[in-house]
Amino acid sequence: MPPDRLATGVGSIDRLLGGGLETDSITELYGEGGSGKTLLCLEVAHRVAREGRWVLYVDTEGVSVDRLRSIAGDSLERILKRFLLSTPKNLEEEGRAVATACALAREGKRPVGLIVVDSATFYYRLSLSGADEDDARTALSLELAELVATALAAHVPVLVTNQVWRNLRDGTLEPLGGSFVNHVAKTILRFDRLPGARRRVTLVKHRSLPEGTAEFRITDSGLEG
Ligand code: ATP
Ligand code: MG
Repeated sequence: MPPDRLATGVGSIDRLLGGGLETDSITELYGEGGSGKTLLCLEVAHRVAREGRWVLYVDTEGVSVDRLRSIAGDSLERILKRFLLSTPKNLEEEGRAVATACALAREGKRPVGLIVVDSATFYYRLSLSGADEDDARTALSLELAELVATALAAHVPVLVTNQVWRNLRDGTLEPLGGSFVNHVAKTILRFDRLPGARRRVTLVKHRSLPEGTAEFRITDSGLEG
């Protein structure tokens, strides 16, 4: 039986994903700054909260309540009541926030519809090339392993965002975190900026769908595609 899907609400992305996000695995969104990763997280989170299910949102970059307001309109207060937002200030706090989110999702007391970690590699990146680089790699691996297990056990889709670095050998933009992140994420979407408010999403990896692309536009009231 094919896995359930959680529609993102952005038509072009849902068609690319065969209906939406898989509900038992991690979907990774990677791409350059301003490419729309956070906006897609907020768009999906809004849909889940609107239906009365909980969103466990680990935010390392300062989630834009203004953006959420423009998506949610008058229902912002009601939406926020279904958000459990944590704002870790370092990698250790991030690990604890993810562990708490996973425990809540598995406990099942509240109906959890989505876990978001945006970004999963912000503090990891800050630790690179420092004395604690190995610890950071271990912390990131543990965090992602816990998210994989939770998605599977609790049947909760997990969205993680990832930043990019420029590979100087060929100039390409590569996701951070190396092959480990790419292995644990069962779906990988790459985001690219196009002129103006247009953005392109490329399905780079999926368990059952071919590679493909979609486009969407960033508007005042959310993403349209
Ligand atoms: P980062 O890696 O820096 O976190 P991101 O991929 O998460 O980036 P978002 O925060 O999702 O990026 O997207 C922000 C982008 O959306 C910016 O390029 C901004 O100019 C654009 N944007 C925000 N509001 C609007 C709007 N109303 N109309 C058009 N574009 C907008
Ligand atoms: Mg972002």
